[in-house]
Amino acid sequence: MQALFFENELVIKDIPVPEPGEGELLVKVKYSAICNTDLEIIKGYMGFKGVLGHEFAGEVVSAGHALSGKTVVGEINCSCGQCYLCLSGRPTHCSNRTVLGIAGHQGVFADYISLPARNLYMVPSSVAGEKAVFTEPLAAALEIFEQIHIQPSKPVFIFGAGKLGLLVSMVARLQGFEYTTFDVSTEKTGFAASLGINSRLVSELKAEEKAEVCIDCTGSSQGINLALSHLWPRGTLVLKTTVAETSKPDLNSIVINEFTIQGSRCGVFQPALNLLERNLVDPTPIISGRFAFTDIISAFESAKKPSSQKIIIEHGA
Ligand SMILES: [Zn+2]
Ligand SMILES: [Zn+2]
Repeated sequence: MQALFFENELVIKDIPVPEPGEGELLVKVKYSAICNTDLEIIKGYMGFKGVLGHEFAGEVVSAGHALSGKTVVGEINCSCGQCYLCLSGRPTHCSNRTVLGIAGHQGVFADYISLPARNLYMVPSSVAGEKAVFTEPLAAALEIFEQIHIQPSKPVFIFGAGKLGLLVSMVARLQGFEYTTFDVSTEKTGFAASLGINSRLVSELKAEEKAEVCIDCTGSSQGINLALSHLWPRGTLVLKTTVAETSKPDLNSIVINEFTIQGSRCGVFQPALNLLERNLVDPTPIISGRFAFTDIISAFESAKKPSSQKIIIEHGA
């Protein structure tokens, strides 16, 4: 099968179709999407080598399972189910885990993938494949609300109007918060505004303007300090950014202001699928380009442009 392989550079390679292991199903990838994490991996984040990609929708081709022939999306963390972290309800932190297209597990920029059946969720027929691809990043946006309680009466600042920042903003909007989404780019704030998101430029943000919760989705190592400088004392900073290049936040300001720092990664899929099925979140306008799998190298070039949003890969028949 054809697969996009990363090893110092991106190349399309012919590799064997994965053999599903115990409890795993073979899935034919129909749609995939490029995430910032993929762009960071090619800069060296996680030191991953292999088939990239973790956001997908596909069809189960293994026979004899309730999901056979169904359109599915899949949780990216493959956990062992037996270690201390799995047994204490933290499977996404499993010490033996592999992560689809990120750590030790072949990713979705390929004709086929193999995933544990328990990672797969059936996509409702009303949700189109290219929309279903957003389940994973939307679940990551929802993870914030699994982790912390945000009082609807308190102001929330979201930094970064990229792919994830927009999804977080769409979920925040559903809750009726006083949220504002900031970005350094007029193009990004303008685009966010066109989606009905309350957005402003970082340059307009005055030093005295602060929020109780700041959510960093900038994808930039400087985002942390920006978000910290606009947080009220005893406020919470939620960090969504993972970057190859890291910077140190000012730890003194965390002590002095008694800030709470919440790291936030992968979320649960079913609530994300529910939002898509009920049309409470429509991520389709975030798609800024569609490429055939054979053009995936150009798709990556397009995804690297600062103005780019979600790039969808169509895998064909
Ligand atoms: Zn992602
Ligand atoms: Zn485990």
